[in-house]
Amino acid sequence: MKPINPTVTWPNHTALITGVNASKHEVMANGLITFPSDGTAPKVEPWVDKDKLVHAKTLYEAAAEKGLSVGQVDWVAIYGAKGVQWKFGEKPNVDDVIPQELIAQGTVTREEIEQFGEKSSSAWRDQIWTDAAVDIIEKHAPDLLLVHLLQTDSIQHQYAPLSPAAYTAYAYADRCLERIIDAVRSIGALDRTTFIVASDHGFATYTHTIRPNIALVNLGLLQKQGDRYTGSVWVKEEGGAASIYIRDVKRRAELVPKLKTYFESLPGVSHAYTNEEAQAIGLPSEKVSDQAPQLYLTAASDYAFGDGTNGPLTQSGAPRGQHGYLNNMPEVQALFVASGAAIKPGVQLGAISNLRVAPTIAKILRVQLPAAKEAPLNEILR
Ligand SMILES: [Zn+2]
Repeated sequence: MKPINPTVTWPNHTALITGVNASKHEVMANGLITFPSDGTAPKVEPWVDKDKLVHAKTLYEAAAEKGLSVGQVDWVAIYGAKGVQWKFGEKPNVDDVIPQELIAQGTVTREEIEQFGEKSSSAWRDQIWTDAAVDIIEKHAPDLLLVHLLQTDSIQHQYAPLSPAAYTAYAYADRCLERIIDAVRSIGALDRTTFIVASDHGFATYTHTIRPNIALVNLGLLQKQGDRYTGSVWVKEEGGAASIYIRDVKRRAELVPKLKTYFESLPGVSHAYTNEEAQAIGLPSEKVSDQAPQLYLTAASDYAFGDGTNGPLTQSGAPRGQHGYLNNMPEVQALFVASGAAIKPGVQLGAISNLRVAPTIAKILRVQLPAAKEAPLNEILR
């Protein structure tokens, strides 16, 4: 399954449930990219409300409008969203119903939920998220449940794809999925439930890191102020891609061609897209969104972009994994498996776009997503 650009987690999760790409939903990173007024490095803020971050209608909103019940476990770009009744978030709220149920049954303690992301392994968090999904199914049986497991991503970043660790992580994810299917079976709902298993993106191995902000320091575009750098040009890196934001609008005409030529000459950079060129690969227009970069860099094979303003421009190291590369790269292709009540068994789909997933689920749920223009996967539906 072909992901959208950028081949990053939140943009693709959002594509899977809206049926539109980043040019419409405007999610460019794992959160909202914000630009401090003092000129220091941009930040990615994950815990902002869905309405501020996602500029498209989602499946859970369309389902809730029709009176269907919705649950979510570790789904992303969903904070403060209307229409989700049962939730155990990536950053769970200890006072929500589902965390309270898990505490009451002794699955997890209040302290563990309050420090959820800080003092735990990704394997443990996947286990608790699976416990939450099982609880939501067994106690509340929602019409639509969105579940996101994270450990395969963490492990492949750390140890690279196709490594023994990556295969172990996939076996573990299979076990979590099995527990969710068992929960559906235990409430007698297996014959009326459809399972869609999708990944947001694939992974490529790299051994070289390039830090574009160090190039901006070398070019004099970032200046040292005490122990930090400030400037009106910053790069926000996302592994296989990096977005350049030129915050001083008056300097864009001068800097865009200059920086395009400069970065395209650097080893490790395969291409620098202007905003107009980036719109052709599905990124938003700078006229509509401040999330749209003025230049979009893609990494060459075996390279990934790194953060930071100190140290050498390029470094090599042990093999690790990244995504964010252009969505036509074979390694970043995703997977799609569908099974259950609404699905014809045995159909081999071949390559599909992930923009067809949301229209397919919308058709199964009989809800409308007017902005999603791709056809549902009618060939797999009964
Ligand atoms: Zn990742």
